[in-house]
Amino acid sequence: MLPPFIPKLIPDKEHQTDESAIQQQTSKKKPPGFSLEQSEGTDVTHTSLQTEPIQNQQYVLNEHLFLTNFKTMECANKLQHSYKTCLYYHNPKDRRRYGNFYSSEMCEFAEKDQVELCPLGEECPKSHNRLEQLYRQDKYKKKFCSFYPNNLYNCEYGKYCSFAHSESEILIDLIHNYDYDEDFYLFHYKTVWCPFNLTQHDKVLCVYAHNWQDYRRKPHVKNYEPYLCLSWKHKDIILNYEDGGCPNNENCNRCHGWKENEYHPFNYKVKPCSNGLNCNKGSLCPYFHSQKDRRYYFLFQNKKSLISKKDSLNERSIKVFQILP
Ligand SMILES: [Zn+2]
Ligand SMILES: [Zn+2]
Ligand SMILES: [Zn+2]
Ligand SMILES: [Zn+2]
Ligand SMILES: [Zn+2]
Ligand SMILES: [Zn+2]
Repeated sequence: MLPPFIPKLIPDKEHQTDESAIQQQTSKKKPPGFSLEQSEGTDVTHTSLQTEPIQNQQYVLNEHLFLTNFKTMECANKLQHSYKTCLYYHNPKDRRRYGNFYSSEMCEFAEKDQVELCPLGEECPKSHNRLEQLYRQDKYKKKFCSFYPNNLYNCEYGKYCSFAHSESEILIDLIHNYDYDEDFYLFHYKTVWCPFNLTQHDKVLCVYAHNWQDYRRKPHVKNYEPYLCLSWKHKDIILNYEDGGCPNNENCNRCHGWKENEYHPFNYKVKPCSNGLNCNKGSLCPYFHSQKDRRYYFLFQNKKSLISKKDSLNERSIKVFQILP
């Protein structure tokens, strides 16, 4: 099936820069309306990740592929050349079907290397090869290349790689570069999927999410309450969000997973840590270790209100409300 229109050929400037993506890169700011004071320094580090310092990359202009057309048309170049760094397709495994109608899930026939047997053929709603799986808006440049950062010269795809080769090229918020203050643990910690190759780093120290139990929906975006959802399977390994067992899925107004509950703005540092002063996790620990560390929230016009930052609260003038059993 031919594409519904003949895509414009882009001969010398093969790449098109996605402006919204650049914007996303430059606006790594805290969410509006949540300008809590800075807390003291934190003892949480992320030294296991050797990433480039961001200031060295300020003036690098990123070139991203124009995904709509990439490898949807047959290559006319009959001379020998590298298929991996060509904009056009050369064989069925190298070809992307035109359009957004298929998912990143691999078709079972493609999985068995028998894609020609798929009864749905061109209309199949699943990916028919790795290219279709990776070169799509929801996957492209969302993780670092497996050769990042020290062996990028080994990546055969170069600037055609669907994975990011630098911090300035990646299309997610790199939250490990943020200040690890109170705002960070309330609104950013574990809200972004880990862009790093899992063999490269210590998952325990990592501030990104690695599975659905680890993942937090942004509480200032989804606005869920500080209680566990009773439908969600908190102890199971969840491969797809739908397997979590909650009929409301991402729109549920209760916590899915312990991290959503513990780091919820109404729970974080509100209850005492069972290890007390012996706990050495600092801000990473969602419980308080001293009165100075403790957070409160209060009732305002009968609604729970964000949020006191520790010392800024005058306890006598505000009705302090605590969730303790
Ligand atoms: Zn070619
Ligand atoms: Zn198929
Ligand atoms: Zn690469
Ligand atoms: Zn990670
Ligand atoms: Zn739920
Ligand atoms: Zn603790």
